[in-house]
Amino acid sequence: MNLAKRVQTLTPSTTLAITAKANELKAQGVDIIGLGAGEPDYNTPENILEAAYQSMKEGKTKYTPAGGLPALKEAIINKLERDQHLSYKPNEIMVGIGAKHVLYTLFQVLLNEGDEVIIPIPYWVSYPEQVKLAQGVPVYIEATASQQYKISAVQLKEAITDRTKAVIINSPSNPTGMIYSKQELEELAEVCREAGILIVSDEIYEKLIYGDVTHTSIAELSEDAKNRTIIINGVSKSHSMTGWRIGYAAGDAGLIKAMTDLASHSTSNPTTTSQYAAIEAYNGTQETVEEMRQAFESRLEAIFPKVEAIPGFSVIRPQGAFYLLPDVSEAARKTGFDSVDDFATALLTEANVAVIPGSGFGAASTIRLSYATSLDALTEAVERIHKFVTSKW
Ligand code: PLP
Repeated sequence: MNLAKRVQTLTPSTTLAITAKANELKAQGVDIIGLGAGEPDYNTPENILEAAYQSMKEGKTKYTPAGGLPALKEAIINKLERDQHLSYKPNEIMVGIGAKHVLYTLFQVLLNEGDEVIIPIPYWVSYPEQVKLAQGVPVYIEATASQQYKISAVQLKEAITDRTKAVIINSPSNPTGMIYSKQELEELAEVCREAGILIVSDEIYEKLIYGDVTHTSIAELSEDAKNRTIIINGVSKSHSMTGWRIGYAAGDAGLIKAMTDLASHSTSNPTTTSQYAAIEAYNGTQETVEEMRQAFESRLEAIFPKVEAIPGFSVIRPQGAFYLLPDVSEAARKTGFDSVDDFATALLTEANVAVIPGSGFGAASTIRLSYATSLDALTEAVERIHKFVTSKW
């Protein structure tokens, strides 16, 4: 089949690819421990399930407005007021089918052919592909481990050209787990103000932060920062609702209208039942969110020293999300592999642990380990990796 040009260079999501391979091996009876997951391992909290069920029983099973139910927009507005002290109007909110599709919709309405979007490396796999699908050009800035995987204002300034439309800031970050401080964000916001570019602030891991760090949205910093920021967030990670597919954008009314109009022809509306569930997620108790956060934090505490102790692994302690991103280039070399990709494949087929090779994130010397799995499984997985490395060293 002669496919459209726009999909000919599309790289399938590495995260989903390795998960598929791991599932295939599992189906053959191989005892695989998956550290590839990009989702919390808890079920959606009971009160949210109940709200969804109630809404269905009440017959709320029909189309809704394309950009989301008014009651859900109100719940999101209250959440943004409560957590970020930001005030938005309903025409500045668009609810979509997960943060991923909201981002996709954003780039579709924002970019013309050749428009540039700045993406810090390591990046979440879908950003470059989504920009390219909108005929935009991803422009990468490498944030090294020595700079805690965060870009500086100087780097940002250097990357901006007269074709730059936007920069993506993902804090806490997938895959690095790093969080930009208020001061770092202020410096970045100032560069964006001078250059007149949009800030896409992906805050999907906002609720998963550890230790004494705090999460600041770049939109909170000033009126100018708010006006040039489009916040992307959703219930997937915070409320363990990845399968419900609810995410949102908050920002400029003109942009939100275009996104909503596009959704009206592409999706009609986010699933109605999921929207009712999301209303409860934001309006109901937030205790379960905190319980899950604490569980992730204690797993991190338990597992981090063990990963750090694997020979040839060099890892920074993450501040948020649920991933570790060790640089394993030394381990791969010392155990006889040409690349970290090959090392990651061997971890799956020989040590029976599924990890995500960092090449998909633009960070080819790393692998990503998700700790969104039980402590027993984590402990066993890290032991397997340790043994694998020492046996081949
Ligand atoms: N942004 C980042 C950084 C992510 O890691 C993910 C999910 O893995 C998303 C956005 C998309 O989340 P969802 O589409 O489930 O709301």
